[in-house]
Amino acid sequence: MQTVRRALYPGSFNPVHYGHLDIARRALAVFDELVIGVYVHPDKVDLFTGPERIALIEEAIGDDDRVRVASYNQLTVDYAKDVGASAIVRGLRVFSDFELEFRMALANRRLAPGIEIVNFIAAEEHLHISSSTVREVASLGGDVSWMAPPHVVSALARRFAELKSRGVSSSYMTSLGKD
Ligand code: ADP
Repeated sequence: MQTVRRALYPGSFNPVHYGHLDIARRALAVFDELVIGVYVHPDKVDLFTGPERIALIEEAIGDDDRVRVASYNQLTVDYAKDVGASAIVRGLRVFSDFELEFRMALANRRLAPGIEIVNFIAAEEHLHISSSTVREVASLGGDVSWMAPPHVVSALARRFAELKSRGVSSSYMTSLGKD
């Protein structure tokens, strides 16, 4: 029997954008199945809740039996083991990502030597996209349609309109979800 190569793609995805989706698509060319794990910090107020972030990812992925989206709030390597993943997929954009990912990969290997960390280099056109940039530009009314799919753009517009109508300041709004 052939073993299924399953990978975990963990992140905050707050919200999902084209950079994330490109990595997911490319990971599916290498692995049979992908679990997209949305890390939900138990004590943090984020712009989108865990279930909202999951719904936005699911809509972006569409109907694909190879992908499952779920939230978690444990050690990533433990979650990878729980879902039966043999690898953790991460994207690399700028040099600052490299240092962080390098340190995380070394720590994760100590914690779970059986799980490989697989890094994909971001596509050039997505290098400067991050969820915080998406949130910041959208909170100020800028165009984010080149960074995220239409349903994410609409969800951002709705959320910021709702926060503004409640008198929430834009600096607080962009801080939502910051690490
Ligand atoms: P963000 O930095 O956008 O908030 P996350 O923290 O949710 O993203 O990151 C989840 C994973 O996706 C990380 O491995 C991150 O490096 C990767 N990633 C984020 N943005 C991009 C991008 N523009 N291109 C490729 N990979 C990315």
